[in-house]
Amino acid sequence: MTDSLARIRFVMVETTHTGNMGAMARAMKTMGLSRMELVSPKTRPDAEAMARASGADVLLESAGVHENLVDALAGCRLVIGASARLRSIEWPLLDPSECARRLLDEAAEGDVALVFGRESSGLSNDELARCHYLVHIPTNPDFSSLNIAAAGQVLAYEIRRQALAGVQRESAADSEERRDLAPADEMEGFFGHLLETLLHIGFSDPEQSRTLMKRLRRLFNRARLDRVELNILRGILNAAQGRKTSERFKRHDA
Ligand code: SAH
Repeated sequence: MTDSLARIRFVMVETTHTGNMGAMARAMKTMGLSRMELVSPKTRPDAEAMARASGADVLLESAGVHENLVDALAGCRLVIGASARLRSIEWPLLDPSECARRLLDEAAEGDVALVFGRESSGLSNDELARCHYLVHIPTNPDFSSLNIAAAGQVLAYEIRRQALAGVQRESAADSEERRDLAPADEMEGFFGHLLETLLHIGFSDPEQSRTLMKRLRRLFNRARLDRVELNILRGILNAAQGRKTSERFKRHDA
């Protein structure tokens, strides 16, 4: 996860207020992002920026300073522009969640960038043309412009949230893979055994058992039983039938 986050650049174009640079650095660092690029800033980060960074000074100190946007984007395979306005021109528009997903997906392969416009006028049409997509944080249409660092915080949070969700998904998938899941033939043996037991104990008759078995199959398949769990269930079925485990297994798995 850290590798991907390190490949996501936050690019600030012609930012006027140094306090906003500091606040953006703080917003980024809290979410584990570290790469800030400044395009023709009105002034370099100063004491006000450091104060607003509140300990995230290292991001300001290591921020790249570029004459133009093209230089700041060098080597990026994906560029997304953050826009306060829903532009009238047709431009592929993403919501913050989709934006984070794409940035993280592509950051697995190489550098990517999220571009923020000027406090006064946002991004120019030329700058927008350098972006593959735009992202807009849904806001009150009558008052849609967030402070630049607040916009950065929302988008950075979404990136972190999805990066964490990705890690959790992977470890859940890993532990599922590590489980010794019962293969289909053993599940068949179990379902046969289950049906026989249900008839034996008088829970269902052969008439209703088809629908019942369908439901029970669905239930047990959803649980993705592993071999140990399957053995426990078969032990219970044996006990319900008053049989010894070894006898029961021989009959169904023969
Ligand atoms: N007055 C400018 C707004 C500038 S706000 C305009 O009308 O375009 C500065 C930057 O913060 C914007 O360029 C954009 O990058 C980001 N931003 C502000 N509000 C946003 C929102 N609702 N969605 C996405 N980005 C936003």
